[in-house]
Amino acid sequence: MSVPDHWCWRAGPVAPGPAVVVDMDGVVSEASGRQHFLDRPGRGDWEGFFDACGDDPLIPETARLLELLDPGVAVVLLTGRPVRVRPLTLAWLERHELRWDLLVMRARGDYSVSLESKREEVAALRAGGFDLRLALEDDVRNREMLQAEGVPCLYVHSGYYRDFAAPAPGAVGAPGKPR
Ligand SMILES: [Mg+2]
Repeated sequence: MSVPDHWCWRAGPVAPGPAVVVDMDGVVSEASGRQHFLDRPGRGDWEGFFDACGDDPLIPETARLLELLDPGVAVVLLTGRPVRVRPLTLAWLERHELRWDLLVMRARGDYSVSLESKREEVAALRAGGFDLRLALEDDVRNREMLQAEGVPCLYVHSGYYRDFAAPAPGAVGAPGKPR
């Protein structure tokens, strides 16, 4: 299976089949230490926010959950991080020994809102033969998109999205924490 430039296999292509789609920031990577980049006036310093991703702690609960999934399930990391920070991201993944098979980042020149970008990637993954059985997300808007696309989505509460409504029952996670 040939893949676009902003997709990256961990150890070569895996056969299409059942897959779980996993967001990174707020789901496997604890990004609260760099949220201050986004709290600045205006639209926030997204460049600074993403450039600092290499120092995030691991979120151990979701890392453990991925370990425990059936070996036949492909783990697709679907992140809004720009492909520019792929080297930082790959080094982080290796350092924390996270289980994953395919890393899908935001393509160069893609400035669409996260949920539209992710919606397109969901369609591309399906076109590539992946059966998206479950997703893990901390952004309510992405969760709603995934559900609308027919991908059951487990909500992980990161607390980063305090401006948006809490998810419906079925959500998993602790009560909100300040940024
Ligand atoms: Mg996130």
